[in-house]
Amino acid sequence: MGGDNTTPTGPDLGRGIPVNDLTDGGLLAGHVGQKPVLLARLGSEWFAIDPVCSHYSGPLPEGLMVGDTVRCPWHHACFSLRTGEALRPPALNDLSRWVVELRDGRVYVTGKAPKPAPPAGPSRTGGPSSIVIIGAGAAGESAAETLRREGYTGRLTLYDIDPDAPYDRPNLSKDYLAGTASEEWIPLHPPEFYQEKGIEIVRDSRVVALEPAARRIRLQNGAIREYGALLLATGASPVRLPAEMERGNRIHYLRSLKDSKEIIAASEKARRAVILGASFIGLEVAASLRARKLEVHVVAPDAHPLERVMGAELGGFIQRLHEEHGVIFHLSQKARQIAGGTVTLENGERLQADLIVAGIGVRPNVELAEGAGITMDRGVLVDEQLQTSAPGVFAAGDIARWPDPHTGERIRVEHWVVAQRQGQVAARNMLGLRQPLDAIPFFWSQHYDVPINYVGHAERWDRVVVDGDIDARDCAVRFQRNGRDLAVATIYRDLESLKAEVEMEHATV
Ligand SMILES: Cc1cc2nc3c(=O)[nH]c(=O)nc-3n(C[C@H](O)[C@H](O)[C@H](O)COP(=O)(O)OP(=O)(O)OC[C@H]3O[C@@H](n4cnc5c(N)ncnc54)[C@H](O)[C@@H]3O)c2cc1C
Repeated sequence: MGGDNTTPTGPDLGRGIPVNDLTDGGLLAGHVGQKPVLLARLGSEWFAIDPVCSHYSGPLPEGLMVGDTVRCPWHHACFSLRTGEALRPPALNDLSRWVVELRDGRVYVTGKAPKPAPPAGPSRTGGPSSIVIIGAGAAGESAAETLRREGYTGRLTLYDIDPDAPYDRPNLSKDYLAGTASEEWIPLHPPEFYQEKGIEIVRDSRVVALEPAARRIRLQNGAIREYGALLLATGASPVRLPAEMERGNRIHYLRSLKDSKEIIAASEKARRAVILGASFIGLEVAASLRARKLEVHVVAPDAHPLERVMGAELGGFIQRLHEEHGVIFHLSQKARQIAGGTVTLENGERLQADLIVAGIGVRPNVELAEGAGITMDRGVLVDEQLQTSAPGVFAAGDIARWPDPHTGERIRVEHWVVAQRQGQVAARNMLGLRQPLDAIPFFWSQHYDVPINYVGHAERWDRVVVDGDIDARDCAVRFQRNGRDLAVATIYRDLESLKAEVEMEHATV
């Protein structure tokens, strides 16, 4: 796809194309002058918007048109073709709309359309007096943006312990850690964005108590804040090694920007890294440290990395992929002792380490909800509108367990896009819009040059169907139960991943 500095591909839409060159439901990459444009046709309607996803610049002409929207092939963001609006995360910024004209059997794109006026939202006729969001991560940030997009004009405050929030957390184990993404890429928006939108972010500030009956919170500094509605979006924290293993050792965990910076600083002086845990984060850290030329050992109790999430076939592939890049695995093993820069495994093997990173899972941060007497179920229990058992209190993101209409089960997942989509839905429901959460879970993971996309949710399956060739990096792996696809993992089959998402949306139990 051509960006602004490259020669754009496809026809010159300023000169027009015959209407029959694009069939109903078709997407076409073209350009007007040097500017690339996406042209789309829905029956007799024509649309044109910018062709590059505002998340990570994915090529929208290679995506999927669904009604009057287009979904990005890379991370399933969704844009309105009518307005260019970013309808679904991970995209946060709207795209420009272009003007389309039909003349004498040809379709022309004549120029950029003026920006539409902001919506007159529901809060102009009501809504809570003020909204507090605890946690400015994926869910909290997305909720705040959505509240303003929906026209909420009341006081809106986010509290976060983290002095850097909000930022692109998934990048912390990938390009940023590998040294291929600059720090400028990490914030989700420049600071003035939040000022302009009237979103107050209070950083370095821990909420220590939630009192739903009085509709107020207490901060660590003793301050008390009242609210009309509240969103709990406190995310998760890394599971730590037992205290006796941590004692006297510098063990790194990775959740925050500060954590990632500390790993980078330690890697600059290190030659050998030992990673405990072959989780997504553990393996992404392995890949990033290989990019920094460290010798990397991964220790994990599983027979294959990620087997419980991705199955043996994909797990085996991911292992081979990392081995091709020089990662040394110590599988079916755990660390027995860590002392003096040596990790001793249960089989007695001793690994020297200048850098130790543990990626052994996360625990949802549910203390505030528990302390408030909110109903729990291995996370914060919410209904389909993301309301907790406490009036006026909603929950979203890694902490929330919700009734998933697609599996018929209550599920809790730890995915960036899911947290953002939940933030959107919770925001709308705080305004009384009564929108059920029905999005299909989606996540991606990146290992070297291999992206893996995963739609759906499969904790247990009775059959794995592999279509294509995993080792050739061209496959769709379907996780089925009772003959039904619960989840589909793909490598370089982005369109298939999008189509699977749409199919699952239509197949509710
Ligand atoms: C390194 C890394 C890489 C990842 N990569 C991917 C990926 O590739 N794809 C994917 O789908 N997912 C990925 N994830 C998971 C994804 O980032 C999470 O699922 C997502 O961030 C969850 O969003 P959240 O809003 O629930 O929590 P978070 O984004 O964790 O935000 C919670 C916020 O709440 C704050 N907080 C907690 N307690 C309090 C309190 N008492 N008072 C004030 N503030 C508080 C925290 O400081 C934090 O900023 C990754 C996670 C990590 C750590």
